[in-house]
Amino acid sequence: MNDETPLAADRLTVPVTLPGARYDILIGPVLAEAGAAIAALGPRQAAIVTDENVAKLYLPAVEASLIAAGIKVAPVVVPPGERSKSFAALERLLDALLDAKIERGDVVVALGGGVVGDLAGFAAAILRRGVRVVQIATTLLAQVDSSVGGKTGIDTRQGKNLVGAFHQPALVLADTQVLDTLPPREFRAGYAEVVKYGVIADAPFFAWLEDNRRAVFAGGAARTRAIATSCAAKAGVVQRDERETGERALLNLGHTFGHALESAVGYEGGRLIHGEGVAIGMVLALAFSAELGLAPATDAERLAAHLAGAGLPTAIADIPGERPSADRLLDLMAQDKKVKGGRLTFILARGIGAAFVANDVPADAVRRFLVRTLDRPQ
Ligand code: ADP
Ligand code: ZN
Repeated sequence: MNDETPLAADRLTVPVTLPGARYDILIGPVLAEAGAAIAALGPRQAAIVTDENVAKLYLPAVEASLIAAGIKVAPVVVPPGERSKSFAALERLLDALLDAKIERGDVVVALGGGVVGDLAGFAAAILRRGVRVVQIATTLLAQVDSSVGGKTGIDTRQGKNLVGAFHQPALVLADTQVLDTLPPREFRAGYAEVVKYGVIADAPFFAWLEDNRRAVFAGGAARTRAIATSCAAKAGVVQRDERETGERALLNLGHTFGHALESAVGYEGGRLIHGEGVAIGMVLALAFSAELGLAPATDAERLAAHLAGAGLPTAIADIPGERPSADRLLDLMAQDKKVKGGRLTFILARGIGAAFVANDVPADAVRRFLVRTLDRPQ
């Protein structure tokens, strides 16, 4: 991270260097610079893919910035929500991009959260066998996670993100001010992924978040720093393991439990959104690590206290409605791609800042842990 004046800077740049790609993540109040930054990539034209909510708020400013930089603009607006990550939406989008005559040298700009980024990124990956994508991430989740690292894709009836491609962006913009219009629940959920980087490998960052959480929520330099630290952590992991053959799996901390909880209570209906599942999942991962004798129980408590202070759920009992059973959760984990022969791949931790990949966790041990957790009066 270019972090010369870390305490005061409201704008930071995180470079990402991969074998076949090099790009910058620009963090801060950077939306108005979109045109100049994209013009430096030399496209004739840009398609701006966004959703209806984000279009109302930010499409005019981004369009104006690109036009002022001499770039011809073709906006494509999709409905908001996970349903836009579908074959039908992909087909409509590719059709619109071809109609707009987006050529190999042009760019697709994904202006929005993870849904728009995944859909537009995948469309760019396969349009004319690959055109460049610029991610302008407008949710905290997308800024610190999905816009960085090149994973793109759609959902199918068999599950989420089952069809897609690795397609690294040519540039990422994370504007810190657009997060002020995000529904507070979405901001909190994205914050869970920020905390995740501290828990994985950066105990000092976790402690910094404990001291600065309110400032991060308020905006300005602390928010820029939290996003930049998260992006630098993710970029580091992706640089060392782009295709997830090993270390990249660490980014799944909290996600094995979290995904199971998300699917148990249903993706629709808003009982649990992704970051909330990750918050509960991370606490469970640390509590499970403690039960296995790997980590002090106080670290799970410290993590739960921090997440709860941010307004996030930290226990299965915090999810409104009926509690899923241990067997149901285990079934869902077994359907996950992280299971081989009665053994689960789990991200465990020796404590906050010391996560590791465990490839051979017996499903039985997980089941016993879940039964005890669910039986406990909370
Ligand atoms: P995520 O990034 O969490 O995967 P989505 O792409 O589905 O999620 O975005 C979550 C919701 O927030 C969507 O309804 C989207 O239209 C809306 N949204 C995205 N960015 C903003 C923003 N900056 N301000 C207000 N709403 C936004
Ligand atoms: Zn996640």
